Amino acid sequence: MDKKQSIIEINNLSFAYNGRNVLEDINLSIKPGSFLGLVGPNGSGKSTLIKCLLGLLNPEQGEIRLFGEKLGRFHKWEDIGFVSQKANSFNSGFPATVFEVVSMGLYGKVGLFRFLTKKHKEKVREAIEQVEMEEFMHKNIGQLSGGQQQRVFIARALVSEPKLLILDEPTVGVDAKSVKRFYTMLKDLNRNKGITLVLVTHDIGAMTEYVTDVACLNKHLHFHGDTEEYEEQEDDMMSRMYGHDVQIITHNHDPHHDHSADGGRES
Ligand code: ADP
Repeated sequence: MDKKQSIIEINNLSFAYNGRNVLEDINLSIKPGSFLGLVGPNGSGKSTLIKCLLGLLNPEQGEIRLFGEKLGRFHKWEDIGFVSQKANSFNSGFPATVFEVVSMGLYGKVGLFRFLTKKHKEKVREAIEQVEMEEFMHKNIGQLSGGQQQRVFIARALVSEPKLLILDEPTVGVDAKSVKRFYTMLKDLNRNKGITLVLVTHDIGAMTEYVTDVACLNKHLHFHGDTEEYEEQEDDMMSRMYGHDVQIITHNHDPHHDHSADGGRES
């Protein structure tokens, strides 16, 4: 792959649910090695954009390229890791150790746990070390805190050595101190391992000191630039993002629509 080629290239993308546009004319290019914070208020279209990127939704307009390939032709899905807030849902009774959960990240390659070779197990250990969870390796996942569980899910995504890692609101339900540690770990992964990261969050304040670039979404892409440029324009951006447009979106938003249960609604 050409080093400068975008990892993600989005051109003129629009998406509507039942005729109502939630993304309009999005153009965004993400360069290899960047750590992008994709921010916007709740309901601003962040998850919809990620679902379009992952091929889960079909936009009526626009083009998406992943690693230079048109989405419809792209097949190297093992190059992309994905962690969502919903990953963090193991209850205290779930009977799998950290090591077992992380090794599930290799199942696509090797099949079941019993087929893991020594080399695979070494990779699992490395991934666990990358997220600084080695002391919990043989603990049940259900005994860990929310922040620790999220680090385990990052390790599960890392074990297949993705080039791009997408995290959709990964710190929901994680306490403030653990969020800092979590972001520091992501920054290290980005810097030291060269993994391109896209962090989706509604909480911009917490992440500006960790990311290299910021994109602000609220139906339209209001801003995309490096962190320094963002900080220069922050006040203006906040009023644009949390002002006029968000009211239009919340006006149409069904207050009874339960986000956590909408998995099957889109076609
Ligand atoms: P965010 O991730 O920024 O919170 P979403 O992409 O989840 O925003 O949602 C954007 C808008 O689309 C919201 O108004 C939301 O209510 C609406 N929406 C999300 N999923 C569906 C769906 N499956 N069907 C209809 N509307 C949806």
